[in-house]
Amino acid sequence: MRIYLSSDMEGTAGVVDWSQCRHGQPEYAYYRTLLQAEVNAAIEGAMAGGADDFLVNDSHSTMSNLRPDELAGRARYLSGRHKPLYMMQGLDASFDGVFFVSYHGSMSGERATLSHTYNPLAISEVRLNGVVAGESGINALVALGYGVPVLLITGDETTAAELEPFCPGAVAAVVKSSVSRFAADSLHPEAAREVIEQAARTAVEALPSAEPPRIELPATLTVRMRNPDLAEMATWITGVERDPADASTVRMTDTDPIRLYRTFITVVLLTRGIAE
Ligand SMILES: [Zn+2]
Repeated sequence: MRIYLSSDMEGTAGVVDWSQCRHGQPEYAYYRTLLQAEVNAAIEGAMAGGADDFLVNDSHSTMSNLRPDELAGRARYLSGRHKPLYMMQGLDASFDGVFFVSYHGSMSGERATLSHTYNPLAISEVRLNGVVAGESGINALVALGYGVPVLLITGDETTAAELEPFCPGAVAAVVKSSVSRFAADSLHPEAAREVIEQAARTAVEALPSAEPPRIELPATLTVRMRNPDLAEMATWITGVERDPADASTVRMTDTDPIRLYRTFITVVLLTRGIAE
């Protein structure tokens, strides 16, 4: 049984500030060890449930936050920047399930520690088929494209709730309760790992009844940028159109969920150049 694991960092128990999750910052060296332990807890839980093959796609910042030799389950490690499928690079139809570990809430959703949707400087809200989507919902498009169910998400309660409309069967491991965008009440790291390990095991054991994401096709992403200039730039990409109702909002619709995800990623990467 093959599990694909996409790891972010903001959803780790104890993490509440950008400085804790950026290379070069003094606190980062410590907090990356907490992330690593949560990733390993998910792998170990999945192993207890019968999974035996793992690919970890590091999806946070420079995408090189984990120590390969410290990964549980002899997991393969996909790291580094400039990946065409970004947070979902490496997934294909040979996998049985997807884990989202240490994910975070969307930019426009309920209070969530370090909330953002891909780029907080450029994007103020994303809706998928009219429903507010965080990175988890957007990334679920790729899982749908390959027909693989999303089994597990870890993070705060907002993160868990935001995946639910798109992947109703996924198991959530809630390891912290967000107080504000820069404060959270977190479980002790050891307790957080136990919650994740148990949830991962439960999720894998429920695999026979799991289904791919429930996202109707053709799917539409409606992206509200932080200003009309960013929206105008996004329309340089084929298939991205201005929303006639709002100068800062663009829309893209596609029958192919992976192509839709790639169009969105291109918007993220293109607008990064002028976002401030
Ligand atoms: Zn991140």
